[in-house]
Amino acid sequence: MERNYPLHQLTTWKIGGPAEAVFWPSTIQDLLTVWQRAQKAQIPLWLIGRGSNLLISDEGLPGIVVITTALRSIQWEDYRVQVGAGYSLARLAQEVGERGWSGLEFARGIPGSVGGAVVMNAGAHGGEMAPLIQNVTVLWPNGTIRKLERAELKFAYRSCSLRGHAWVLETKLALSQGNCEQILKNMKENLVKRIANQPLEKPNAGSVFRNPPGDSAGRLIEAAGWKGKTIGEAQVSDKHANFIVNLGKASSRDVLALVEGIRNDVQSKYGITLQTEVEYLEAKS
Ligand SMILES: Cc1cc2nc3c(=O)[nH]c(=O)nc-3n(C[C@H](O)[C@H](O)[C@H](O)COP(=O)(O)OP(=O)(O)OC[C@H]3O[C@@H](n4cnc5c(N)ncnc54)[C@H](O)[C@@H]3O)c2cc1C
Repeated sequence: MERNYPLHQLTTWKIGGPAEAVFWPSTIQDLLTVWQRAQKAQIPLWLIGRGSNLLISDEGLPGIVVITTALRSIQWEDYRVQVGAGYSLARLAQEVGERGWSGLEFARGIPGSVGGAVVMNAGAHGGEMAPLIQNVTVLWPNGTIRKLERAELKFAYRSCSLRGHAWVLETKLALSQGNCEQILKNMKENLVKRIANQPLEKPNAGSVFRNPPGDSAGRLIEAAGWKGKTIGEAQVSDKHANFIVNLGKASSRDVLALVEGIRNDVQSKYGITLQTEVEYLEAKS
């Protein structure tokens, strides 16, 4: 456990104040022990994977922030993989592809953890997590560990019924037989597209807003004239308007001001209320 830990080091946006304490469990038992102690002492608990979909308040977070990245167990079976929540999704996609197993081609450029990808139903290039998930082992809010089959879960665009409710500990994914060369080629092409279209050279958290039904958030933001606009050190990317980049020392306040400005302007110009895809974490008052 480390105290007074700068959370900006744990997010891809490089934004966030200090956590009172952070903890990296390397086993499910370690995680459970901390969870039980915190519950008993009524200490606030937060869960973070690879911090690629998060805006953390400049004031930081009270209590204990649990980071899943050391939960990296992995077991391979025939076209099935049982993998810990903290495993890198991009790395898993590459390893699955090298075996000639198909299904995770879409995920090679998504910088999250497997657990984060399950609860976000992460997806891209026409693929998503939901159809691959065979079961998920979770820490349930009452402190029990349960294995849930896919039929017990609800998935929709970038959402899963577990989000904000249960902690994903591991999952079993079912892949299918494919052609290794073709899979690796597809992944490479997807990465090339990302490099061309996304401002990956500056800290960011991927798409800030969800795409509204039948439209694209980036198109609406650009049409409303926000591309390139800056508040403090946060900037609406001039490469992709649904990305906000950190120019150096952006604060969560800078990002929130851009988010609010965009939302109000798009609402008044086009009558569409954009919903954020990134999640904002702040101390509850
Ligand atoms: C450059 C870039 C490109 C991206 N491209 C895509 C894309 O193409 N498609 C896409 O879907 N996303 C994309 N993202 C967003 C992000 O990578 C995904 O949403 C990813 O699934 C988040 O995983 P994470 O581990 O980083 O989660 P975090 O950001 O750490 O957490 C996000 C939320 O998930 C919760 N969470 C994390 N782990 C667990 C767990 N084990 N159990 C329960 N809850 C958990 C957290 O509490 C938090 O509420 C992109 C991000 C970046 C920076």
